Amino acid sequence: MNIMVREISKFNVIVPEGQEDYHELVYNTFTGSITRVNHPLAEVLKNRSSSVFKFPEFRLLSECLENQGILIQPDFDELKEYEKMHQRWKEGRENVEVNALLTYDCNFECPYCYQGRGEDGYKIHGYKYMSPELLGLTTDFIKRTLVERGARKIELVLYGGEPFLPVAKQMGRKLADDISRWTEENDVSFSLHVLSNGSLMSDDDIEWLSGYKARLQIPIDGSPEMHDKYRFYKENRKGSFENVARVLSLTKGSGIETHIRISLTDETYPTMENLLGELRLRGLNHVYPDFCYITAFTEACSDFESHTLSDLQLFKIMPELWRKAHANGFPLDIRPRVQPLPCSSVADGSYLIDPFGEVYKCWELVGLKEHSVGRIK
Ligand code: SF4
Repeated sequence: MNIMVREISKFNVIVPEGQEDYHELVYNTFTGSITRVNHPLAEVLKNRSSSVFKFPEFRLLSECLENQGILIQPDFDELKEYEKMHQRWKEGRENVEVNALLTYDCNFECPYCYQGRGEDGYKIHGYKYMSPELLGLTTDFIKRTLVERGARKIELVLYGGEPFLPVAKQMGRKLADDISRWTEENDVSFSLHVLSNGSLMSDDDIEWLSGYKARLQIPIDGSPEMHDKYRFYKENRKGSFENVARVLSLTKGSGIETHIRISLTDETYPTMENLLGELRLRGLNHVYPDFCYITAFTEACSDFESHTLSDLQLFKIMPELWRKAHANGFPLDIRPRVQPLPCSSVADGSYLIDPFGEVYKCWELVGLKEHSVGRIK
């Protein structure tokens, strides 16, 4: 008795589990499933020998693989379905993400700042803050957008410049408290995400973020010495590591999902072991270490290009760092996810509003008025 012939998905990515291991992992980028298979089965999938699965003794296996999306029905047009999924994610009205850039001002002067610092900063944005009027209009815009889209969920992201500079902080709190109250009354789910350099937060700020179970991201650029070389105060060029570590310690047990954004450059990555050891010694391994590449994408940071790493270097370095972080007891968030959009900003419901009221789609293009897609007024 023959059974129905299934085909092999185009979306299987097969990787060896370990050097000497008999097993391989199949990640299906369409369904997001990850399946451990033995070597002969991995070979069948790689060679696309789907005829094997027509034999009755493989019926259960075939069904199981179909449940994971590794095998598909012959009439299932994966590319068409993927296109539909892409459209749904792009045009879906359920989710809204608003990034509020409260100020271009910052108490740091990092050399790779894509918004431009020093003279460049003055020319590009003049270190402007949102005005109270614009804050009010932004609040109205968010509520109106949620109603018009019939949205069920909003993620509000506060960032800058530095969103915890005193004036920006008051605005950020007002905006978040206002929107959160409104969402509660209108049965919309609210989440708060804050990007900060981590130098100015007080106990009270941490308590406020904790009330929202916010996600907080603070950059750290390697060992204390290396971090201080990159991330220093504008006023006196003093490094910020100690202050940032103090704020990280405040987040422990607070319910805030704390991530450290670690920029990998030719100078920082050799110091990562030192950083992980230092954080562990201080009992700070509750934070998620997010190892990130940086680009010299905008003109404002183009002179940093010689320090960036190539894709090939990153492919080698990242897994080594994840292993080290895991061995040091840090939580990791590295499971691959289905992502039919090249960037979440592509979604129609994603907006970024700067202190001039300009609306952008992409973080890396803020401040470049030719890339503005609208204006709040
Ligand atoms: S902390 Fe952020 S905004 Fe401030 S200078 Fe550094 S990269 Fe730019």
